[in-house]
Amino acid sequence: MQLTRATAVQKISDDLRVRLSAPEREVKVSIPVRMDDGSLKVFEGYRVQYSSLRGPYKGGVRYHPDADINEVRALAFWMTMKCAVAGIPMGGGKGGVTVDPKELSIKELERLTRGFVRKLAPVLGPQRDVPGPDVGTNATIMGLIADEYSKIVGKATPAVATGKPLDQGGSEGRSESTGIGGMYVLMALLPHLTRKKPSQLTVAIQGFGNVGSFLARNLVAEGFKIIGLSDSKGGIYTEKGLDPDAAETYKKKNGSLEGFPGTKNISNEKLLELTCDIVVPAALENAITKSNAAKIKAHIVLEMANGPTTTEADDILFKKEIHVVPDVLANAGGVVVSTYEWEQNLKNEHWTEKKVLGKLRKLLEREAKNVWKRSTKLKTDLRRAAFSVALERLDATLDKTPKKR
Ligand code: GLU
Repeated sequence: MQLTRATAVQKISDDLRVRLSAPEREVKVSIPVRMDDGSLKVFEGYRVQYSSLRGPYKGGVRYHPDADINEVRALAFWMTMKCAVAGIPMGGGKGGVTVDPKELSIKELERLTRGFVRKLAPVLGPQRDVPGPDVGTNATIMGLIADEYSKIVGKATPAVATGKPLDQGGSEGRSESTGIGGMYVLMALLPHLTRKKPSQLTVAIQGFGNVGSFLARNLVAEGFKIIGLSDSKGGIYTEKGLDPDAAETYKKKNGSLEGFPGTKNISNEKLLELTCDIVVPAALENAITKSNAAKIKAHIVLEMANGPTTTEADDILFKKEIHVVPDVLANAGGVVVSTYEWEQNLKNEHWTEKKVLGKLRKLLEREAKNVWKRSTKLKTDLRRAAFSVALERLDATLDKTPKKR
């Protein structure tokens, strides 16, 4: 759907259209896991390898009760676009296991992860497919993926997965990269989107996990005022502005943001409709749909989740002259630093945080400006502009076969 819309503004070759019409490979596996009580449970896992035109498949592994092959396929397609928009030498892929990781013990999660890798090993590898973290997975799980793969191939192979713990070949800056990357992209586009300065801008963030919390902290450091925050259990709101560190400490102690002193409770849905300058969906897909898009009051939507805005909602927001900074650009910081991690592993190097974040900032500023220029040239929204840049780069990889005479 997004592809069809984008090809209306960016002509692509017939070859690329055919190549992108379906994933290159989809794998569905059953993972038997011995539970702590001795019973055996089978979980379903997936890996979709969408496109390798620009390099090895790259993309996260999601552990979520709603993860299924259709969701993973859509996410794998977006990774293809994201890696191309970012200009990194990676293709697109995504993985998932249908599971609620909060219901498993640490040992059960370890057995599940190792079992998943044993099933996928033939299609993984540093030059083949390189998983990273996503919703419901973390550094520990990425470390386990690399460890299990290394055991299978009989050789330490840290470059098979990214987002690992620092002492297992992880990169400095990886955990904050998606959040801080959102700030870099926003700062690069801001002069084009508004006349106001950060200190005059208010922000509401839906999703206070790894991505949302690092974004919140970095936005506050730039002078923005965070007036609303939420997680899956509910949200908080105050016009006076929130301290994300204090909110995080409160959440850790109380298990939820609700009741944070000096704030009013607010639902996840209402948070998106707050009167503010920037609204940030940083949780899951389909947060902004045709049923709530007309109620969005912010002037800018910064998509830190993958696929938070449906195409119908995109049209409504476009008519309201609300700028949507698309996921494939706004949240690309994570996969960019994942790619730096892969590069460090391959070269047996360890870069400083300053070097990693410096490179990230430069790259995102450059690509954000690129997308902005494309949107003015094509007189279209930032999503179609980002897709246009991505499609052009994907097309450039193809060795076009001569047309029949
Ligand atoms: N899950 C992240 C994304 O959606 C990052 C994936 C990775 O690091 O490979 O972009």
